[in-house]
This record gives sequence, structure tokens and C-alpha cells, in this order.
Amino acid sequence: MKTEPGTKWLLGVARRRLNGALDRISGRPSQKPFPSCQTLEKDDLRIALGLLKKLTAVEKDTRIVTEYEREFATWNGSRHAFAFSSGREALSACISAAGLEPGDEVILPGYTCVVVPNAFHFAGVKTIYSDIELDTYGLDASIIEAKITGNTRALLIHHLYGLVSRDYDRIIEIARKHGLIVIEDCAQATGAEYRGVKVGNRADFAFYSSEQSKVFNTIQGGMATTNNDTLAEKLAEQYNNASPPGSDWVEKLLSTLVMNYYIHRHEMKRVTGDIAKLVYMNKTLVSTTDDETKGVKPDYYGRRMAGPVARIGLNQLAKIDRFNKLRRETAPRWSAWCDSRGFKKPSVVDDSVPIFLRYPVIADPSMKLNTSWSYAEIGVEIGKWFISNLHPSKSHVDNCPNADIAVERCVNFPGIMP
Ligand SMILES: *Cc1c(COP(=O)(O)O)cnc(C)c1O
Repeated sequence: MKTEPGTKWLLGVARRRLNGALDRISGRPSQKPFPSCQTLEKDDLRIALGLLKKLTAVEKDTRIVTEYEREFATWNGSRHAFAFSSGREALSACISAAGLEPGDEVILPGYTCVVVPNAFHFAGVKTIYSDIELDTYGLDASIIEAKITGNTRALLIHHLYGLVSRDYDRIIEIARKHGLIVIEDCAQATGAEYRGVKVGNRADFAFYSSEQSKVFNTIQGGMATTNNDTLAEKLAEQYNNASPPGSDWVEKLLSTLVMNYYIHRHEMKRVTGDIAKLVYMNKTLVSTTDDETKGVKPDYYGRRMAGPVARIGLNQLAKIDRFNKLRRETAPRWSAWCDSRGFKKPSVVDDSVPIFLRYPVIADPSMKLNTSWSYAEIGVEIGKWFISNLHPSKSHVDNCPNADIAVERCVNFPGIMP
């Protein structure tokens, strides 16, 4: 039997109230909501509410998207930037712009988000997984060359948790030596720097995400960049052939922002959160649909960014350095915790400035299976990315022992405390 949305909401409220009461009676530290959307502030809420009122008027405004792309390119130190509706759609545009074709192979980490291999599969490109190292959770350069075949055309590298990948230099060298196209997945590391240059600027293409759990937040959103003028023309072709989403979708995105503000950020969020969940119940978006988790391409896939989303993006971009500074200031707290408990800390590569979107730690497997200890010990719920090799799908990837360790043991702490 399917539960009515109204009933489901009521049950949710009842469950939260009961848990709160039980926590008080038993003297347990009260369980707080997972820290999410920490970069949404009152001004973002105001902008979203304003946009919702005049949606059709601003929807067609492409100038604001161009302004957002220009601002991002300048801030990021990139020659060209193109805004898409999500990081994964930005990645797909890069794959097409790179001229990758069915039968080509890409080497990528066996520890990633399922939407990354999906983007390659949608283009018919075969994904060859390679293991990560456990210092920064990036591709391990020492084993990549063994995976290169006559069909290998590209390498995808990532910078996870806001850390600059340990083998960044060596991997770029390997790619150049073999004439491979490099795509940098900067979805979790927007603003991190290596040798004074922001990540994403050393590859042929890079993509960034402003999905709601990322460095900056437009609920859903992505950016593709390149510093190569010829590749930029190819990317522009992809971009010009894409359409922005319609107002139904934009309304849902803005409603999700408003709802999340009231759930996660309002001073009286325990009350406003419940009300917002009721009001916006049927008007919200999920980041990854069940179909996508199973590898199915959504029919709307391939959109560029809509004007109202870029408006939010501009506001978030103006604050991103402040949030990244806050994350760097929070990191020593988790580092001290690791020292006191004897757990492995992430490495910070020489000459790099990480942004610690999350602070990853190799803990005991039991601490990842049951995370309730974290309320008492650190006052906040820890994160569990990644729960599988291809998060959040349950798929397993063979021959990536380090990725298996990370899947079993790596938990992460929030970069910004609630
Ligand atoms: C979130 C994420 C993506 C996808 O970004 P979307 O904007 O959600 O499509 C890709 N790679 C990594 C590592 C991510 O964390």
C-alpha cells in the first residue's frame, strides 16, 4: 500500500517528536538533523522567494547566465565557463566536446558517484576503473599505465572532499605522455588550489557542481570549464544545442531551496522545517533519481542552466571564499579528534590549499555501520559518502582494494558546523 503524502508527513512529525522526547527522558544527546545546505543564508532565501513571484519574467533571461559564467570564470581563473543544470550534465557536455565516441575507453576512479560513469555510458564510452590511494582518495598514479589500451582516449581525475588529489602532477604527466584527454571532476573541490591555481585548470576540461551538498549551493547546478580555445568552441556547440529547463522545474528547484532553508537554517528550524515540508511536499527535486542510480538516462538530460538558478549562483559565488575559509578553520578540530582517537587523517599535498568540503577519516567499520556515536562524541551527525564504489548505487567494482577500504571505513565530518 502506498502512503498518502499527508499521512507520511504526519508520521514524520510524530516520529521526530517521539525521538526528541525519548532523547530527553533517557538523557541521550538529542539527535540533530544532518548538517546540510550550510551555505544557504537569508539573502539566498529572499532571492529565491522573489524569483518564485516573477518566475516567467526572469526565466528567459539568459544575460544573467552569461554574467554568472563570466564571474565564475574570473574567480576560477579559467578562460571559458559554461553553466549547465547539473555537474553531471556539464560532464556529459565535456565528453561530447572531447569527441569521445562509442567504443572509446576512459580510465576513472573506482570510487566515485554513479552519475559520473553514467555520463560516459550515455555516450557509449567504456568505463575502466582504477584504484584510488588512501591519502587523498584520488586515482593512484602508479597503477594507471597498466590500464591503458589502444582504445583509451581519456582519463577522469577527481579531487574529493575538497582535497587536492595526491598524484595530480603525475597523472597529468601520464595523460600527456599517452595523448589522453583529461577531465577533472571538481564537484567537491571548487576553490581548492594547487601551486596558486584553482583545481580544474590543468586538465583539458573540468566540471564543478553546485548541487545542495557541495561547496556552494544552487540546489542543482553545474559548470564546465576549459582553458583551450579550440575545445571551448566544441563545448560552446554542446551548450548552444542545449535548452534550459522549463518553469515547472525551476519552480521546484526554488521551492526546494526555500524548504531546505526552513529545515536546515532557520533559527526555529524544528518548527519551520515541519511546516515547510508540508507546504512544499509536492514541489521539490531529488538530486539523483532511482532510475539514474540504476544507470538510466533521464529524458530531460543535457540541459544548460536556467536564468533564476544563475541568479542564485551569483549570490553563492560572492560568498564562496568566506565559506571555504570557514571550512579550513573547522578542519583542525577534526584533525585533533583523529589524533586523540588514533585514526588516519587525510593528507594535504605540498603547495596545495584544500577547502575541506568534508573532512574524511578512515575509522572503524562499525563506526560507519552505525553512526549514532557521533552525536554524543562530536555533537553532529557524520557523513557516509561513499557507501559503495559508485555512490549511491550498490554496485561493486572489482580490483580496487583501496576503494573497498574507503567504502568500508571512510566517514566524513562537516566542513561547516550547524
Ligand atoms: C556531486 C558529484 C558529482 C555530480 O554533480 P551533480 O551536480 O550532482 O550532477 C560528480 N562527481 C562528484 C565527485 C560529486 O561529488
